[in-house]
Amino acid sequence: MGGNGERNLALRVGIGLLAGAGAGSVCNLLWAGEPALEWCIAHTTEPAGTIWLRTLMMVVLPLVFGSLALGVASLGDLRRLGRIGGRTVLVFLSLTAISVLLGLLVVNLLQPGTDIPPETRDRLVATYATESAARAQAASGLTLGVSTLVNVVPRNPVAAMADFDLLAVIFFAMMFGIGLTRLAPAKAAPMTAFLEALVGVSTSIIDLVMKLAPFGVFALMFTVTGRFGYDLLARLGVYVVAVLLGMLLQFLGVYPLVVRVLGRMSPRAFLRGARTILLTAFSTSSSNATLPTTLQVTERELGVSKEVCGFVLPLGATLNMNGTALFEGVTVLFIAQVFGVPLDLSAQAMLLVICVISAVGAAGTPSSSIPLLVVILQSLGIPGEGIAIVLGVDRVLDMCRTTLNVTGDVVTAVVVRRLEGLSGFSPASPAVPPAG
Ligand code: ASP
Repeated sequence: MGGNGERNLALRVGIGLLAGAGAGSVCNLLWAGEPALEWCIAHTTEPAGTIWLRTLMMVVLPLVFGSLALGVASLGDLRRLGRIGGRTVLVFLSLTAISVLLGLLVVNLLQPGTDIPPETRDRLVATYATESAARAQAASGLTLGVSTLVNVVPRNPVAAMADFDLLAVIFFAMMFGIGLTRLAPAKAAPMTAFLEALVGVSTSIIDLVMKLAPFGVFALMFTVTGRFGYDLLARLGVYVVAVLLGMLLQFLGVYPLVVRVLGRMSPRAFLRGARTILLTAFSTSSSNATLPTTLQVTERELGVSKEVCGFVLPLGATLNMNGTALFEGVTVLFIAQVFGVPLDLSAQAMLLVICVISAVGAAGTPSSSIPLLVVILQSLGIPGEGIAIVLGVDRVLDMCRTTLNVTGDVVTAVVVRRLEGLSGFSPASPAVPPAG
């Protein structure tokens, strides 16, 4: 989908969000607690919203499996490229972990989900009662114990997929990718082509489903506000602030520091050189769609060699998702707060790991992290439908997190360029040619 298409979709989703929230709030004001309103919601907007969500969720397994196996298979190049590969992945993972950490810090400070009136929360939990049984498990299951580690390795990958056991599926996908790199190129080619097609089909389904997003978001918002009024919406504002604040800290604090100290480049010159990339990422909400611009501009404006760009940036578009990981961490904690699911320190440490890994599994396409988010929520015993609360603002957040995702890739390229000294570009020379 092109930049214009994305902007139009964002606009239509915004309208769907406002219309759903407005209509739902009015109905709630007029008929809160009326059986007729509940009947209407339960028979129209709720099933419609659920169907839309399920169409997104059904692609999560092929998407995660395909993109992760392919991502790891491309690590075959890492071995050939030796140090550069290891360093790239190290910078990717460090930036992503710092990003999630910042997000979790902010959301713990602001506590956007805790002030929900108790009766609103009780009704939320009661509505999604089927899933509440899993909540008890969350507290005990979410520790960094040995059993967690053992359970990451599935005895039966098909059963792991059927159970939506994301970590186990990710482990299997990684092993699959490693296995693939060990085959002779001619033997591996059909499987690589199959996986590429699998990811392509999943992405095109997401594209299709997102066309219905205005209606899906309307239905979800109407269901939530019709039942619970607009109390919830006010807290949503604080949640958006938490996500944006975390991203700003990473963008204006961590990146400039890393660019200066590790990349030996002036942060101002970096931002000036990278601005076309930032705008493209912001307007397309897709790391993949931005990749051609990223490659061209990073080489031309930031003086990173073709070799480093060609290696780091495509890998980053699939593996390095700083903004997505931060968004997932903040959102999971927010929804957990709304539903009163306690996530203590060790649970949050586990969440950090899950976010870093699952962001690797997200494809660089619009809203590709949403289905993953539903699965993370469910695996923590939080009702996946809780996503309804945040979906309405997802378009804007997707634009911002994609910008962070892509900037993280460019930061990594600048760091790797310096560490490897692969380009003839002198760190002391201006990163960006003088304007005009
Ligand atoms: N839209 C993001 C990207 O392409 C992925 C996501 O978080 O949904 O980088």
